[in-house]
Amino acid sequence: MSDDAQRTDRLDGNAVAGALGAAYGIDVTLAVVRCVSCGHTDVVARTRVHLSPMGAVVRCAACDAVLVVVVERPDGTLVSSPGASWVRG
Ligand SMILES: [Zn+2]
Repeated sequence: MSDDAQRTDRLDGNAVAGALGAAYGIDVTLAVVRCVSCGHTDVVARTRVHLSPMGAVVRCAACDAVLVVVVERPDGTLVSSPGASWVRG
């Protein structure tokens, strides 16, 4: 398998704007998120998003810690935010 086939797609926070917006009820492209690990705050649009068939992992642009995990399922969207102190809309 080539390196390209093993890599997940790496995008910015806009890639999960629809799913997070539906879950949080805000326009997350302008929302600010704070990283638990390093304290970095930035707009969600500047985070790093890794897409895979399992879902999306949103990572801190400063330290690469996992901020939010989004899994879209037939019965709804699951959002876990273990690495986000808060998200401000
Ligand atoms: Zn961080």
